[in-house]
Amino acid sequence: MENKKTNYLAAWEVAYSHLKKNLPEHAIGAWFEPLKPVELSGNELILEVPNQFFCEWIDSHYKKHLLTALNQKPNNKNSSYRFIVNSNSKKIKPEPFLQQQSKNTNRNFNNINKQYNFDNFIEGSNNEFAKSAALSVSQNPGQNTFNPLIIYGGVGLGKTHLMHAIGNQATIHNPNLNIVIVTSEKFTLDFVNSLRKNKTIEFTQRYRSADILMVDDIQFFRGKEQTQEQFFHTFNVLHQSGKQIVMTTDKYPGEMKGLQTRLLSRFQSGLSVDVQPPNFEVRVAILLEKAEQNGILLDYDIIEFIARNITDNIRDLEGTIIRILAKSSLLNKEIDSDLVRGVVRERTRGRLKTNITIEDIVKKVSMESFIKEKDIVGKSRKMEIAEARQMSMYLCREIMGISLNNIGVYFGGRDHTTVLHAIKKITNKCENNTGLNNTIKSLRRELTNPV
Ligand code: ADP
Ligand code: MG
Repeated sequence: MENKKTNYLAAWEVAYSHLKKNLPEHAIGAWFEPLKPVELSGNELILEVPNQFFCEWIDSHYKKHLLTALNQKPNNKNSSYRFIVNSNSKKIKPEPFLQQQSKNTNRNFNNINKQYNFDNFIEGSNNEFAKSAALSVSQNPGQNTFNPLIIYGGVGLGKTHLMHAIGNQATIHNPNLNIVIVTSEKFTLDFVNSLRKNKTIEFTQRYRSADILMVDDIQFFRGKEQTQEQFFHTFNVLHQSGKQIVMTTDKYPGEMKGLQTRLLSRFQSGLSVDVQPPNFEVRVAILLEKAEQNGILLDYDIIEFIARNITDNIRDLEGTIIRILAKSSLLNKEIDSDLVRGVVRERTRGRLKTNITIEDIVKKVSMESFIKEKDIVGKSRKMEIAEARQMSMYLCREIMGISLNNIGVYFGGRDHTTVLHAIKKITNKCENNTGLNNTIKSLRRELTNPV
């Protein structure tokens, strides 16, 4: 027994150290560190993985590496491996596109996505009200005035996450609750099918027996009159018997188009809470969390860089982390600032934002030209000083896009025509003077590539 035990541990130890020597650190951290050897069955090492995604990813990206690593010792010829999925593991959350593939393993029969809970929902001023309302509903479904609860806001801001979190939390409180959670499309489809198959009674029973009915993205009920009718009745039956209803939608219910007014006015009887785009600090927090969930360690300035550039929604932030991870794994490259910049550039379609200040530009030009910063922004008309000043003005306009007036104010209270003149002068000089042209180019590059 003891011997058997040490065998599989030893086999993994040898393989693991071989992998460490041959693969980048993040790949080890992301894909191999979480593996747990559990048994050696003949030549086959059984490895426990956190989820199905690991099996697929390792098989498609690291199979060769892993087999080579397992066949290190001469007496270990023909060693192979097999994965078993540890269903209790909560270490790694699979990425969204794989979540879809492994739906069945991640979801219970209610269709509640277990990955979406309150613990991994990051709170900020953009969503704290929505979160506390959702939490309260999950603890007392149907029992307070938050009925129906409507969570509304733009895409990728956490509405679906909160809805499933309500389901998960409510189940913890009371495992016997009948929780029905569907998208509005699913509701529509179920209804249409029930008509087709003469099974409207079953449909009605299924939806009207819910203790909590949650419908995602009800804006897609738009224009579907008969479905709306059906939903209206379901809603009323549930509401009257004190059952909880939760819905998400893209707009404030009062502003929704294409839904019957009687439906909208019913919705107004409960509570509508919004989720807003995350501010900078929340974006940083989310990136840190998502990086950790995916087993990658990113320098803080890289995180900040992403947070500054990917600003619209949380799905995008998450997608960026996944893309970085995928790219580094596919290209077998370390995650460094080049790789991150490349990914961020792709995802922003080349429109990188900078948060450079005029001070940064002046400092950079000063280092390059050996002219003191205070001279650059001062009054002197000496030729080298004037040129450094003109270069700085040019870069301020080009990189930051600030107004001629504001540039003038900063550079010793000059007026906008002086600034315009300076910019023209540099533009003309660059055409004839490759040296200056190169200097400007490299300054621009260094200033806009702070990572
Ligand atoms: P929506 O339904 O509003 O379009 P989702 O709920 O699908 O957005 O969120 C998109 C992704 O971002 C999901 O993977 C979700 O887990 C994640 N997400 C959204 N908000 C948060 C948050 N506050 N903390 C952590 N992850 C979040
Ligand atoms: Mg959604």
